[in-house]
Amino acid sequence: MTIEPRRNSRPICPACGTRRTVDDRRPQRLFEYLPVWSFKVYFRYAPRRVTCPEYGVKVESLPWGYGKERMTFSYQIFLSRWAKRLSWQETVDIFKTSWDTVFRAVTFVVDYGLAHRSPEGVTEIGVDEIAVLAGLVTCRGPDRAFLAEE
Ligand SMILES: [Zn+2]
Repeated sequence: MTIEPRRNSRPICPACGTRRTVDDRRPQRLFEYLPVWSFKVYFRYAPRRVTCPEYGVKVESLPWGYGKERMTFSYQIFLSRWAKRLSWQETVDIFKTSWDTVFRAVTFVVDYGLAHRSPEGVTEIGVDEIAVLAGLVTCRGPDRAFLAEE
């Protein structure tokens, strides 16, 4: 499944949070989303680069993840919730992932919670709004800038 930015939408500079003009696209990357039954679910997206008069050329800020992390926020929250209920090893086994992945997910959620002083608020990041419907993914970012089709 490939996600494409909506035409004419402008990417957000990660340094200043302002919409800027597109510089170019990075190669497509895979982002891991919530599993469906026991199947891993990924989507593909080629991040755009923005030209910012203040900070120069940067890779755009994305609503579902950060930096070079391949897991989406949703998947990190999902994994860390299970890791809280089960042992980390059980979480690894059940979701066919690695110990390192669970570690990164839990670390992210804990850090995010500490930074925002509201660990439960993590679910309100907004990426849960990514709805997977019969092969069509609509990612509703702040301005619904992203659309996806199989
Ligand atoms: Zn900027």
